[in-house]
Amino acid sequence: MNLSEIKGIGIKTELILNKIGIKNIEDFVTYYPYKYRLIKRSNLDNLKKGDEIIMDGTISSTPTLSFFAKNRSRIGFQLENEFSRFQVTIFNRYYLKKQINIGDSVTVIGTYDPSGNKIVVNEIRFSKIEKITIERMYHLVDGLTRSSLNSYIDKALTLPFTVENILPKSIEEKYKFQNKRDSIIEIHHPTDKEKLKSARTRLIYEELFSYMVKLKYLKDQNSKEIGIKKEVDKEEFNRFKEFLSFELTEDQKTSIKDIINDMNSKKRMNRLLQGDVGSGKTVVSFASIYYNYLSGYQSALMAPTEILARQHYEEIKSFFKDIDIKIQLLTGKLKRKERLELLEKLSSGKIDIVIGTHALVSDDVKYNNLGLCIIDEQHRFGVNTRLKLIEKAVSPDVLTMSATPIPRTYALTIYGDMDISNIKTMPKGRIPVKTSIKKDKDIKEVLERMYEELKKGYQIYVIAPLIEGEEDSKYDVTTLNNNMEKAFGKKYKIGNLHGKLKEEEKNKVINDFYKNEIQILVSTTVVEVGVNTKNATMIVIFDAKRFGLATLHQLRGRVGRNSLQSYCILMSNEEKERLEVLTKTTDGFEICEEDFKLRGSGDLFGERQSGEQIFKIADLKRDFNILVKAKEDSLEVIKNKEIDPNDYLDFTVVS
Ligand code: ADP
Ligand code: MG
Repeated sequence: MNLSEIKGIGIKTELILNKIGIKNIEDFVTYYPYKYRLIKRSNLDNLKKGDEIIMDGTISSTPTLSFFAKNRSRIGFQLENEFSRFQVTIFNRYYLKKQINIGDSVTVIGTYDPSGNKIVVNEIRFSKIEKITIERMYHLVDGLTRSSLNSYIDKALTLPFTVENILPKSIEEKYKFQNKRDSIIEIHHPTDKEKLKSARTRLIYEELFSYMVKLKYLKDQNSKEIGIKKEVDKEEFNRFKEFLSFELTEDQKTSIKDIINDMNSKKRMNRLLQGDVGSGKTVVSFASIYYNYLSGYQSALMAPTEILARQHYEEIKSFFKDIDIKIQLLTGKLKRKERLELLEKLSSGKIDIVIGTHALVSDDVKYNNLGLCIIDEQHRFGVNTRLKLIEKAVSPDVLTMSATPIPRTYALTIYGDMDISNIKTMPKGRIPVKTSIKKDKDIKEVLERMYEELKKGYQIYVIAPLIEGEEDSKYDVTTLNNNMEKAFGKKYKIGNLHGKLKEEEKNKVINDFYKNEIQILVSTTVVEVGVNTKNATMIVIFDAKRFGLATLHQLRGRVGRNSLQSYCILMSNEEKERLEVLTKTTDGFEICEEDFKLRGSGDLFGERQSGEQIFKIADLKRDFNILVKAKEDSLEVIKNKEIDPNDYLDFTVVS
């Protein structure tokens, strides 16, 4: 069933929904809330400065509206109830003034400051709290409001959607799970806490169960001696050194050895290459491509974003410029004619290396003799995508790469099917990035420090957080861009990068920054993975508290890619303690451990906003106990032949 069958969804909305991975009714009903909010009056005794507060009452003063700075406004009024009187402020929503009158009953949700009994409003509702309710919260994207998303999901729930239950009967009985359809409805419209909890547990369990079945399948496939033993003349392979403009680190050398051993054996390679941002994984993957090329096979390198794929493409082309090796880029953005041409060349063996996004796994993509699949930032792809690429060949070697080291316990469970090589040391001459935390009021000092770097001829990233629909948006890309124009626009060029730009526009901005035609790049986290501009020595991240430490670490990895001292400035008025981890260490492992402790796995496995997340509801850390159960159960059920793992794959795997 199509989205357009839901009333109120036009083409524009459909495109926005596609971005968060919603393409049909089933996607809608499985777009689960990420949290719930109990709507009841907060107990003031438990509240500290900065906590969320929910309060209702009567407006007891005439609301005032004032403007300040450019385009900024403030509405103020007093809110009174039988216990207290609050000083309420609403920023930058001057249009609400007409609706707010003395004597009105309202509920406000916002942040509390006990000194002066102040509330800064995020959301205002024009009635008192009638009864305690559980409210769902969905992740939003630009262009989609909370209320419209709520109403679309509600409509979708009334349509005849299909639910695929993949749990065997024995498991459903063992845990007394309620049926899936009821669980889905409960998730969106909780009736009470207990029922909600059991519905969630059921859906989480099912997701993890299916994941473990697929992993087991992968593992079984890999243990068979069905690989191709690739033999290459040693001398010939050693020519690889000639392409390098630097000395490999010890860990890089060891990793390359591991890989070649695998490729030279009858087992098929299934290796994970782990290494922090900037540790030099790419060149190791090039070595494997070279070996594979010499043995006469095609290679495919898959990256999670178009930007990253293009960058790999440029890099590999220049890396192998002296030899006659045919390299092509395949993304979803190719014109039909170019695409057909490329596909023909690929299937007839006129291309040796293809780099791309998950366009590489489309049904019409056929390879002549694919011998090696490389998957960059592998945790951003689901098992299905991984399998689909591997399925394109009879028995290819597989190298996956990840810059997100995940703690050992989790690694054993979710990467259980792979061998691992680690790059622990950074290339010589790298100076750790100096990181500091600044508050909004320090902005002048920050701008001065930016100016210092610019004067030296270096470049700067400015990161704007993604803003969810209805909030105060002084940190959005456009506002930050305007502010940067004001501060530096006379002397320097400023570029603007965000998800809404067309692909060509994005590529142009990144390219201009790469060529130093732009000195300041104001961007959302689309730059997070892999963007490589060595001349950038500073990154300023606004409202840094919104990000997980792992994401911040990735962002920071955009600078310090040379032998210059680089700087990372985290702008945040709050959560200093959490962010301080980053000022103390540049060890990605330590940082990810911290992140795991604090936020669970969500941040590591792609974001909802990108539509590319692996789990819709499960969180590997939070739900680790369920994961362990799901793993045991799945093995048991497979052993008893109660299920056929093939049913869990949405395509057949050639073996
Ligand atoms: P990542 O592991 O994040 O993918 P890259 O492979 O992009 O890291 O490497 C980061 C930068 O370091 C690249 O510009 C690369 O050319 C350079 N580099 C890689 N290995 C070395 C090395 N052994 N010595 C010096 N520079 C290196
Ligand atoms: Mg990389």
